[in-house]
Amino acid sequence: MSGARFPGVRFDGRSAAAAAIFLRVEGTSLTVEAPDGAVLDRDVIRRTRLSEAFDHTPRLIGFPSGASVEVEDPDGRCGRALEDAGAAVSPVVRLQRWWPAAVLALAGLVALLGVTYFKGLPLAARWAAFALPARIEQRMGEQVLLALDKHYLEPSRLAPQYGQRISRKFAEAAAKAAPGVEYRLELRRMPGRGVNAFALPGGTIVLLDGLVNVADSDDAVLGVLGHELGHVAHKHGTRRIFQSMGVGILAGLIWGDFSGTAASVPVVLGTLQYSRDFEREADAFAIAFLRTSGVSTRHLREFFIRLEAREERKHRGSIPDFLSTHPSTEERIERLDAEVHKEEAATKSARPALPEPGAAGSN
Ligand SMILES: [Zn+2]
Repeated sequence: MSGARFPGVRFDGRSAAAAAIFLRVEGTSLTVEAPDGAVLDRDVIRRTRLSEAFDHTPRLIGFPSGASVEVEDPDGRCGRALEDAGAAVSPVVRLQRWWPAAVLALAGLVALLGVTYFKGLPLAARWAAFALPARIEQRMGEQVLLALDKHYLEPSRLAPQYGQRISRKFAEAAAKAAPGVEYRLELRRMPGRGVNAFALPGGTIVLLDGLVNVADSDDAVLGVLGHELGHVAHKHGTRRIFQSMGVGILAGLIWGDFSGTAASVPVVLGTLQYSRDFEREADAFAIAFLRTSGVSTRHLREFFIRLEAREERKHRGSIPDFLSTHPSTEERIERLDAEVHKEEAATKSARPALPEPGAAGSN
C-alpha cells in the first residue's frame, strides 16, 4: 500500500467507543485501517462527508456505512492530502483563503464602524439627550458646576447691579426668542483664562467676568448668551457627553475594555468642547435670538473682532475657550457681516427696522 497515512480514531456509528486507526489517502480513495492492517472502511472521497478545515480542530470524515473517523491535523498535512484527492473546498473556506476577500471584509468593517461613529452615534446621542428626564440632566449640570467651582471658578467680582441688569435683559430676550427653553444664568470669574461663557447639561449657563470686560456692551454679551442658549436648546452638552460615552463603549467592544467607559466620564465633563457643527448651530441660534429681541448683531460682530485681535496677540495655547473651538473667528465674523448688511438694508428701506417675526431658531 502506498499514499499518505494519518493516525486517528474511529467510531463505528453504533457505540461510543473510539478505536485507534490509520487513515490512508491514496488516489481518490480513502481507506481506514486497524493497527494490524485490517481494512475497516474504504470508499472514494466524493462519497464521504468531510468537515470543514478549521485551525486546531480535527478533521471529521463520515463514511456511507455510518462509521466516522477523526484525524488531528495540526500541520494541515491531512487536509492538503484530502484536497489533492479531490475533497471539495467550501465557498466559505475558499473566500477565507483569498486575501483580497480578507482585505475587503476588513475595509467593510472599518466603513461600518465609521458610519456608526459619524452618523449613528450622533443620532443615538441626540435621541438619548432628548429622552433623558430633565431632572437627571440638571443633576449632571449641577455636578459639573460643583467640580468647576471647586477647582477653577471664583465668585464674580462684577457689580451686583450689572448682574441683575444682564440677567433681566437676557430673561426678556429669551422669553421672546426661545420661550420653551429653560436655563439658569450663573456669573463667575476664572483667574487666568476668563474670556469665556459656557453652557452645561440641564440649562446652566456660566458667564465669566473676563468676557463681560472684553465685550464692552450689553448687546454683545446678549449675543454670546444667545449662543449659549442655543447650546442649551439643542442639548449639545448632554449629547456631547453621550457621544463620548458611546465612543468609549464602541472602543470597549473593539478592544474589550469596558472599564475605560466609566473612567472617561469625568474627563468629558471637565472639557466640554463642542464640535464644529454644534458651534454653527449655536451661532445660527444666536443670530435668530438677537433678531427676535430687536438687538443688532453689530455688537456681537465687534466683540468677535476684538477677540480676534487678542487672539493674534496671544500664543495659541492661551486662546480664550469661546474661540478655541471651530468654526474660526474669521468665519463667525463673515457670517455676522452678512447679518449686519441685512440689518442695514432693512433700516434704509422705508419701513421701520422691526425684527422679523418667527425668526427664533429654537427647535
Ligand atoms: Zn459654543
